[in-house]
Amino acid sequence: MRKILVIESDDWGSIRMPSLASFEKLEKSGLDLRSADAERFNLNDTLATSQDLGNLFEVLSGIKDKNGIYATFTPLTIVANPNFQKIKESNFQNYFYEPFTETLKRYAGCEHSFDLWQEGIEKKMFVPQMHGREHLNVSAWMKDLKTGERDTLLAFDEGMWGFVPSKYPETDYQAAFLLADPAELEYQKNIITEGTQLFETIFGYKAEYFVPPNGPFNNSLNKTLADNGIKLRSSSKIQEEPLGFGNKRKVLHYLGQKERNGIRFITRNCFFEPGQSGKDWIDSCLYDIKTAFRWHKPAIISSHRVNYIGAINPANRDNGLLLLSRLLLEIIRIWPDVEFMTTPQLGELMNKDENNG
Ligand SMILES: [Zn+2]
Repeated sequence: MRKILVIESDDWGSIRMPSLASFEKLEKSGLDLRSADAERFNLNDTLATSQDLGNLFEVLSGIKDKNGIYATFTPLTIVANPNFQKIKESNFQNYFYEPFTETLKRYAGCEHSFDLWQEGIEKKMFVPQMHGREHLNVSAWMKDLKTGERDTLLAFDEGMWGFVPSKYPETDYQAAFLLADPAELEYQKNIITEGTQLFETIFGYKAEYFVPPNGPFNNSLNKTLADNGIKLRSSSKIQEEPLGFGNKRKVLHYLGQKERNGIRFITRNCFFEPGQSGKDWIDSCLYDIKTAFRWHKPAIISSHRVNYIGAINPANRDNGLLLLSRLLLEIIRIWPDVEFMTTPQLGELMNKDENNG
């Protein structure tokens, strides 16, 4: 039985906290930056600098599987951020976005970082897939900007939106596809179409795998994903599907499950968040992997960008990378026949297995 290991990492490309100065200013103004698991993101997560990516690649290229394949990340990428300047010029009446490659040019240490993204793709150790057009619920955010919500405007002035709004969880700006009203579905379809097209423009290949930001996603959008070339979609095993007006429904999914429109579901079964305190992440992740292999499943690790970013707090990156390299060394030692893959490669293998009966 083959032992396949995939590492999925969400949030690459999205602004989270522009700087420590922004964090301090917003917290002083009374914004909630810490509850609902937001603290470690707002204190550490931001666009990856060239150094962040270079250091990550050093770790990944230090480990090879039995086929000589590097340890590989599938970075789930946000391809756009709001264009704050244009939105302000329209007096908050219209929404504008920019490719994340434009945002990079304004961030210190990121100006030339897209060269590293391309290097990662070439060396097949950092191969982006789709996390969304923005990591932002445009409808909810624009509505609050128009009505002049104080906290939303203060965060806007710092170029961010990832605080915890007082109306949370009914309002969650980070959850791009949270559905307040079913009438928003048409707009969300448009976001998917434009986002997948922008992905192809930026990276030169089509996205095949989609991970809904923060989870919420109405299943009627699966057809839009399929129409735009997406073959795989991430979901938790028990999906809470938003239906609008605060209604939700539980939908069960399993790894490899296929819809009639061709979309196949990927469910993560291993977790590695070394920046989150209070847990031995190496031990627990090795246990997750062992369980997956025991049931003859691939090990699909979830590990967010925040663990590997040092632009705000260098110690955060150093710790995350140290633990990642230890984890990878343990994996190779315990399972010498492990094979590193990206999520689309795993999807192809599932197709093959299916065709071979
Ligand atoms: Zn995310």
